[in-house]
Amino acid sequence: MTTDFAATKAFFDLPQGVTYLDGNSLGPLPRAAAARVAATITDEWGQMLIGGWNKAGWMDQPSKVGDRIARLIGAAAGTVVMGDTLSVKVYQALASALDLNPTRRIILSDTGNFPSDLYMAQGLCRMLCQGYELKTVAPEDVLDAIDDTIAVTMITEVDYRTGRKHDMAAITARAHAAGALTIWDLAHTAGALPVDLAGTGADFAVGCTYKYLNSGPGGPAFIYVAPHLANKVNPALSGWLGHDAPFAFDPDYRPGPGIERMRVGTPPVLQLAALEAALDIWDQVDMADLRAASLRLTDQFIAEVEASCPTLALVTPREQSMRGSQVSFSHPQGYAIMQALIAHRVIGDFRAPDILRFGFTPLFTDAADVTRAAETLARIMADKLWDNPVYMTRAKVT
Ligand SMILES: *Cc1c(COP(=O)(O)O)cnc(C)c1O
Repeated sequence: MTTDFAATKAFFDLPQGVTYLDGNSLGPLPRAAAARVAATITDEWGQMLIGGWNKAGWMDQPSKVGDRIARLIGAAAGTVVMGDTLSVKVYQALASALDLNPTRRIILSDTGNFPSDLYMAQGLCRMLCQGYELKTVAPEDVLDAIDDTIAVTMITEVDYRTGRKHDMAAITARAHAAGALTIWDLAHTAGALPVDLAGTGADFAVGCTYKYLNSGPGGPAFIYVAPHLANKVNPALSGWLGHDAPFAFDPDYRPGPGIERMRVGTPPVLQLAALEAALDIWDQVDMADLRAASLRLTDQFIAEVEASCPTLALVTPREQSMRGSQVSFSHPQGYAIMQALIAHRVIGDFRAPDILRFGFTPLFTDAADVTRAAETLARIMADKLWDNPVYMTRAKVT
């Protein structure tokens, strides 16, 4: 398959004149999504009413959509299921992994991990009251910190702030050699670069769909469990739709077959409909083509910004194999610079304390967009356009 990125770009509805480099945080609207969601509302919900669960296939949607995500993350069909938000899926994977490795008490993560993952681990350790503990080390020290005290590693493959990428194969192999399980958070991986969950032997993986996968705000998360573990996992969030026979209404929980047991409650049907429209675009994308295009765009942006903005410091690793699909620069006035850039219709985002973050998404970003973004940033820096009180007041979401 050769991916036609000019064709995929035409499938998105982006505001005129906007260069959108924030698809790593919230993907833009697939043109087909509005009609798809409207049809689900009027033809399915409106006409079928409760019959939609069977007739429109709402009840099977979490596994069907999971199978389509599976292709993008190197997983076999029947190993991925949709539901809830990523934070919840992190908790679920973590509780299951600890239960599978009962003699050990340490969860290993890194200090660059997204806070919600760390918070969920902290909350779970507190709930378990059995001496569980979260240990965090610097990202570059993860491999060496894996020893036979570690129950599970909980690592986000691509750092949300710096774009630094871990070596999934090496960490998974070291963890397994030490008798630890692995949880991979693919929040900044799924739809950003190829992953080979089956090939690397990852035990659990989780991710969200509203970033690179473009399911829209509030889109559901996914969870993967390796096939050899799927029937051994004891779900901590033992909801009725993960039960072996939800409609038997048995008062006692009995886990469903394989990955189905990681379902919790009622699926978000409307959000899944939006995601299905986005996945119709993904069906036309080859992940190797995506990676090649992403590296071209990120290399171009790094080169153009470094040539024109000497006071911005590159935070993202320069080496291609060490990074995902975003580029970050630091500057003490990072917040104001980003606000000025957004006012000039180039949208990236800011992450405390001083990071300007830009996501590169070949599905709808091309070389001309990169040049426009770099030139606009250069003008803002050269003319100090950021030095204006209107760009200094922080909004709730940065
Ligand atoms: C975006 C992100 C989240 C967000 O979790 P939600 O529950 O979907 O809000 C969690 N973890 C990581 C690593 C993320 O990048």
